[in-house]
Amino acid sequence: MNSSNHYPTFQRHVRAHEAVINNEFWYGDGPPSLGKSFTAARTAERQRDVVGLLQKAATSAGTAGDQKRSRLLWELADKLYGCRPRARCGSLACPKCARAFQRAKTSAQQALIPVLQKTNSTKKLVMANVVPLGMTYRPRQLRHLDIQKRNRWLKDIVSRAGFTRVMFGSADISWEHGFYQLHWHLGMFTSNRKNLTKRLKKIFPGTDKKSYDRPVVVSKAWSLGFLPYKDKGIKLPNLLRHNRTHLPELLLVLDRTEPLDLMVLTKLRLSAQQGRLILRQIENKRKKSR
Ligand SMILES: [Zn+2]
Repeated sequence: MNSSNHYPTFQRHVRAHEAVINNEFWYGDGPPSLGKSFTAARTAERQRDVVGLLQKAATSAGTAGDQKRSRLLWELADKLYGCRPRARCGSLACPKCARAFQRAKTSAQQALIPVLQKTNSTKKLVMANVVPLGMTYRPRQLRHLDIQKRNRWLKDIVSRAGFTRVMFGSADISWEHGFYQLHWHLGMFTSNRKNLTKRLKKIFPGTDKKSYDRPVVVSKAWSLGFLPYKDKGIKLPNLLRHNRTHLPELLLVLDRTEPLDLMVLTKLRLSAQQGRLILRQIENKRKKSR
């Protein structure tokens, strides 16, 4: 496939990226399932919808005289249209590829969590949702969103607050009546959920208003069923229903984001083996004595 100059060549996680897009297993309907709205067939429908939406937006941009935007949208539409077995586009804007990555990541964490549970036997697995309330983007500002950079910001801020534990998180972009809110879902183990919530609230404070906005929610993970949700990145079905006008802009942002860069990993190393993603804990050089 010839790659256009307008699309960046992804440079991080190259082998892991290739492992996912070259393994058709992730594009099918095997385990892990992401739920009945996210079967391969439903995703193919959504793919057609997204391609149509991009073509329409490209035409309007051209009519409005914005040739550059029109060209970018046409190129993205073509790339997604051309996504097929042995020629996967690997774009996060592609419903098929995004789903493949989501499933591969879910599977890697399903294998990782029981291993972590052994060394954290007294602790509980939780999912912490953190919302930096200032990190919002109007559709027009979205072009400035650099998810990789924002993820580095998150890692810095939590590490400066003294978090040194293993975390497996994901950035998530939600549409909130007029703007996009960047936030994160972080999986981790804790022995004290209340204290963890308190510590995170210090990093991600609420507004002065009555706190109907919940910048920090830490929920117990009763099963590993939260993983697909955590790694979804966006709610595509919902955006296709309620935010079609602004969706093309978001798709352009997703397209220039490496799919595996949605993840925020601390103390974990990502690799690939036989078409699968593998997450392993990075061991401390010297074992701490207890
Ligand atoms: Zn694709």
